[in-house]
Amino acid sequence: MGDESRKPGMDRARKRQARVYQAKHGCSYTEALRMVTPRRGRIRRHSRLIEYFSRAAQCANPHCMSPLHVVCDGHPRFLGEVAHIQSLSPFGPRFGPVGGRDVVENLIVLCPSCHRLIDSDVASYSVERLVPWQRVQSAALVGGGHE
Ligand SMILES: [Zn+2]
Repeated sequence: MGDESRKPGMDRARKRQARVYQAKHGCSYTEALRMVTPRRGRIRRHSRLIEYFSRAAQCANPHCMSPLHVVCDGHPRFLGEVAHIQSLSPFGPRFGPVGGRDVVENLIVLCPSCHRLIDSDVASYSVERLVPWQRVQSAALVGGGHE
């Protein structure tokens, strides 16, 4: 199946991005290429990070704490969404002078509602407010987390 939106220069640009990503994160070229290849607007994330965050039992918002592992029609589902404390994009929420990075310290797992909430009300959900949420959640994950 041909992708008509793909331009000739795109692959070269992507390979260059992949090499930069690889140098920065020290992962394999294949992983880097996967990370820089966009797919339906979803952010690509390192598989180690995904494995780590999928252990989160509940939403990091202390006023919510919704369970993230649910069983729906007999099938286990993970509802957690990984949110950036400081946005990756200069145009995104809470973008700071150092910029957001895809590292554990800059990421929290929220339920879909809280993810939307914190990204739509940046004045209330500042970096200073979210960092303690991250610390508590990260301590639980390191200590065993879910199960
Ligand atoms: Zn929540």
